[in-house]
Amino acid sequence: MSEANNEQTGGKEFYLPELLFGYVESMLAGRTPAVQARILPFEEFISDPLHRPGFAGLHTTFMFHTRSTNLEKPLYYCVVDYPIMNASVTSFSNFYCIVVYSGLYQQTYSIMAGLLSDRSLRKFLLTGEEAVDDGSYPRLSRREAYVDLRETGAERADKPALDLTYLLSQLTVIIVTCHELGHIFGGHLQHSLTKNHMSEDAVQVDAQGIRRALEIDADVFGSLASALLMCNIKPYPRWSDLPLDLDMALRFLFVSCYATYSIMDLFGPVDPLVTRKVHPAPLLRIYIVGLIVSNALPVIIPASEREAIWDQASSSVRAVELALLATAGGSMMPEEALQYESAGSQLWDEHLGRWSTIKSSLDRKRLDVFPWSPVLP
Ligand SMILES: [Zn+2]
Repeated sequence: MSEANNEQTGGKEFYLPELLFGYVESMLAGRTPAVQARILPFEEFISDPLHRPGFAGLHTTFMFHTRSTNLEKPLYYCVVDYPIMNASVTSFSNFYCIVVYSGLYQQTYSIMAGLLSDRSLRKFLLTGEEAVDDGSYPRLSRREAYVDLRETGAERADKPALDLTYLLSQLTVIIVTCHELGHIFGGHLQHSLTKNHMSEDAVQVDAQGIRRALEIDADVFGSLASALLMCNIKPYPRWSDLPLDLDMALRFLFVSCYATYSIMDLFGPVDPLVTRKVHPAPLLRIYIVGLIVSNALPVIIPASEREAIWDQASSSVRAVELALLATAGGSMMPEEALQYESAGSQLWDEHLGRWSTIKSSLDRKRLDVFPWSPVLP
């Protein structure tokens, strides 16, 4: 119970009360009838070591971002025991609930462990020293390499790799939870336009591109919310063992973000080969994270510098790709990376072009509680 600053409540204060399980379970059954999943009772969730990164990520995020809000009703989270990488948020009549599927941290665990079995990636995270590209050519596609790491990643990892895997998996949960908070505080739920937020629905873009715009807005909020949390995570268990400074905190954030989005992209919640998505591709999403954090963080934390943060983001993407190449023989091609970067910049320009109109139709007052909300687009 010393895992995450539980104070006197044992960490239960943010968990969905059992009295309300029925409402959430009916909603889930209506939305995805094929998934026969149950909400874990809190005691079961907290006592199983397999759920520890999930608890640490959710509890830390709730402690940091939801304790002094101006929400009109309580906000809870719950965990559904099911191996898909998904999360969603719903506004019920008397409460909000973020639902996280346990696959979010359990599916990523083996892949993160496999990537971190690469010493160069660990060194990059801990010291910032960049891996050397030995020029070897990929023998597998990225997808094949990720499939390989899902099978073999955990057994490749030694103790130092597993220690960092725990932290990166916790960070996956933080990033996704912050994205879901973005839907609540950004006023998206009053619009009934977003439903199953992290899942890659088989809808490209609706007529006005509104759903995609709201997903990007949630990513924008989530980027800054998770970056600020990372800048203050030092006192939390296990993080306190690291000589964590701003640069290292951001490397952890960007590496985890990129690996999470890549895995999410490759193993969609239902169909692993799903190709049409509401969410932009992972490199496009990391582009948005890098852009937002590098532009907004220096306004909030004057010791940080725009160019240095952007460089950390680029180096982190490169470090993950090199680790994938070194461990499983797959990687993105350089020309592919350039295409993604230009697509990212185009996506962002399109977003800004339509955002002010969409934003004006949203109730943004819930954002006021965050002193940094004025720097959000
Ligand atoms: Zn979403």
